[in-house]
Amino acid sequence: MSEGIITASYVGATILFILALGGLSNQETSRRGNLFGMIGMAVALIATISSVTANLGILIAGLLIGSTIGIILAKRVQMTQMPELVAMLHSLVGLAAVLVGFANFMDPGRLQHFSGIELTIHDVETYLGILIGAITLSGSVIAFGKLSGKIGGNPLLLPARHWLNLGLLLSSIWFCVEFVEQSAAGSGTVPLLIMTGIALLFGIHMVMAIGGADMPVVVSMLNSYSGWAASATGFMLNNDLLIVTGALVGSSGAILSYIMCRAMNRKFLSVIAGGFGTTSGGASSGEEQQGEVIALEAPEVASLLLEAKEVMIIPGYGMAVAQAQHIVYEITKTLRAKKVNVRFGIHPVAGRMPGHMNVLLAEAKVPYDIVFEMDEINDDFPKVDVSIIIGANDIVNPSAQTDPNSPIAGMPVMECWKGKTTIVLKRGMATGYAGVQNPLFYKENTRMLFGDARASLDEVFKNL
Ligand code: NDP
Repeated sequence: MSEGIITASYVGATILFILALGGLSNQETSRRGNLFGMIGMAVALIATISSVTANLGILIAGLLIGSTIGIILAKRVQMTQMPELVAMLHSLVGLAAVLVGFANFMDPGRLQHFSGIELTIHDVETYLGILIGAITLSGSVIAFGKLSGKIGGNPLLLPARHWLNLGLLLSSIWFCVEFVEQSAAGSGTVPLLIMTGIALLFGIHMVMAIGGADMPVVVSMLNSYSGWAASATGFMLNNDLLIVTGALVGSSGAILSYIMCRAMNRKFLSVIAGGFGTTSGGASSGEEQQGEVIALEAPEVASLLLEAKEVMIIPGYGMAVAQAQHIVYEITKTLRAKKVNVRFGIHPVAGRMPGHMNVLLAEAKVPYDIVFEMDEINDDFPKVDVSIIIGANDIVNPSAQTDPNSPIAGMPVMECWKGKTTIVLKRGMATGYAGVQNPLFYKENTRMLFGDARASLDEVFKNL
C-alpha cells in the first residue's frame, strides 16, 4: 500500500472512531456507533499491516494467536464477567505499552537514529510510555481482583499513604532524569527497571486504597489510563493513528470518570487519593439487624402489579447475575397491555460497569423510551404505586442520605421508598458491593420476594 493510501486510511479510521464515540453516547445510536468502531478498527489494522515491510510472518503469527485468544475469551465470558474482562483488557494495553517501551529502548538502532535533543525526547516518550503502561497494568490486575471478588472491597489504608504516593512520584521524576542522562551514554537499564517496579507498586497501591463503592470511578479511570498508555505507545512507534486513538480513549475515559464522580457525588481527587468506602465509621458497616422484613410470595406480587397504575422497575447487579432481563421485559409487555404505566429507572452506577443495565435492557429489546436515568425520574416516586427492585441494593440504600458515616454517604440513590409499595427481589439478606446494610428492606412499605430474580419473576409472570 502506498504511503498516501495508508495516511488516508488512518484519517478515515480516526473519523470512524470519532463517529463511534458519538454513536455510543446515546442508546438509540449505540449499535451504529459500535459498527463504526469495528469498521474503523478493521481499516486501521489493514492499513497498519500493509505498511509493515519486515517480519510480516511474525506479525501475522501474533495476530492469529491474539485473535484466537480473543475469540475464545469473548465466547466463554458470561455477561456478568464483562467488567472483569474489561479490566483484564486494560491491563493488556498497559503490558503492551511496557513491552513496546523496553523493545524501543533495546533497539540497537536507537543511538544511530537519534542524538541530542531528539534522543532526549525519544527517551522521555519511552519512559512515560512504560510508566503509564506499568501503572495501568498493575492497577487493572487489582481492579480485576476487586471486581471478581478475589480481593476484598475494603480500601487498604496504609499509614502515611499520601506521603508514600508523593515519594513514588518524586522518585519516578528523579529516575527519569537519571535514565535520560545514562541513556545518552549507552546505558540506562537500571533506572528504567527501578521506575517500572515503582510504577507497578503505585498502580497496586492506587487501586487497593479505593473502597468498594468508589470502584466505578476506578474502572473508568483505568479505561482512561489505558488510552494514554496506547497514545504513549503511538509516540514510541511513531504511529499517528495510535496516538490519536489512544487520546480519544484517554479523554473519553477521563470524561466518563468525571461523570461517574458526579453520579456518586464524589470529588475526583479525593477518590484517587483513596480511603472512601471504608467500613470503619461507626454505624457505617450497619451489620446490626434493623427490624423484621415482610416477605411475599409470587402470586401476591403479581396481584400488587395488576392493581397498580404506575410501576417503576429498578434493576441492579442481581438482574445481571440472574440474567432476568428477558423475563422482566415479558412482564413489562403484559402489564403495559393491561394499561399499567411501566418505566425503568437506571442508576448511573448500577451493576458493575458504566451502562451495564442499559446494555442488558437493550439486549432484551426493552424500548428506550421507557428507560429513564435516575435524575429524570427520582422526583416521580411519590406517584409510583409499585417499585420493583431487581437485584439492586446499594443504589436504593436510604442510608446514603441519612447516615453520614456510611461508606456510600452522599451518593445519590433511587428514592423508591417514597412510593406506595416497594418490592425487593433478592436471594437473601446479603449486602451489596459496598458491604452496607440496607434500611430499605425494613421499611413499612417494603416487601421482599426472596429467591433468584429470574426464578421469582418466572413465577410472577405465570401468575400475571
Ligand atoms: P449491589 O452489588 O449493591 O447489590 C446487588 C444485589 O443483588 C445483592 O445485594 C444480591 O443480594 C443481589 N443478587 C445477586 N444475585 C442475585 C440473583 N441471582 N437474584 C436476585 N438477587 C441477586 O448492586 P447495585 O447494582 O445496587 O449497585 C452497584 C454497586 O456496584 C455499587 O456499590 C457500585 O458502586 C458498585 N460498582 C459499580 C460499577 C459500575 O461501573 N457500575 C463498577 C464497580 C462497582 P443477595 O445475595 O441477597 O441475592
